[in-house]
Amino acid sequence: MTHESSASPGPGATSFARLPLTPAMQANLQQLGYLEMTPIQAASLPLALQGRDLIAQAKTGSGKTAAFALTLLARLNARRFAVQALVLCPTRELADQVAAEVRRLARAEDNIKVVTLCGGVPLRGQAANLEHGAHIAIGTPGRVLDHLFRETLRLDALNTLVLDEADRMLDMGFHDDMVKVMRQCPKERQTLLFSATYPDDIARLAKQFMRDPQTVKVDVRH
Ligand code: ADP
Ligand code: MG
Repeated sequence: MTHESSASPGPGATSFARLPLTPAMQANLQQLGYLEMTPIQAASLPLALQGRDLIAQAKTGSGKTAAFALTLLARLNARRFAVQALVLCPTRELADQVAAEVRRLARAEDNIKVVTLCGGVPLRGQAANLEHGAHIAIGTPGRVLDHLFRETLRLDALNTLVLDEADRMLDMGFHDDMVKVMRQCPKERQTLLFSATYPDDIARLAKQFMRDPQTVKVDVRH
């Protein structure tokens, strides 16, 4: 353990500055007022940025979005016009919130395109957005699956899959759609699963679709 009076101050244990992010990304975090990582970010980001699969459990409002957004953005190649990251969310509202946060965090990089794929709006506009070269897709399992069936969404360049609020997706009956989507993802990928609770059906999904996942838990009351 380092001593308090250590000669080299360096960034503190929970400072974003200790993460291997580009200077542009670091500057953007500062501008957003993100100075210290939240506990779930501090627990998950160092592992996630190494490429580990993660099961992360933390309560609402703890900053889970930035934990996965910074991970997928760190790996993204903006010059490659293909979907490289997919985030599955339980509802359209959550997908919109995640997309807004991803766009805020992505503004440090040039022209990263985020599309949302949720039901209740025509497929056609979403398909056009995808066709024009989206890097990140965020959506509900049913609608994402529709696009996969129609081949308006291709996942062959995918390197990061995020299951956000996985327990809620299961509560909403998305199990089979999630499985179908995951079966179409490349095997070589990183999977990040976020959930407030960890019921058996999540454990089964993790066992089936994740690679040696590390579990990180913060402030979960059970
Ligand atoms: P969760 O998904 O865990 O419910 P969110 O990712 O939506 O939480 O984050 C909750 C709020 O905290 C958002 O408004 C987000 O912008 C803000 N936030 C996240 N991380 C930080 C941070 N490190 N510093 C300051 N604010 C943050
Ligand atoms: Mg969230």
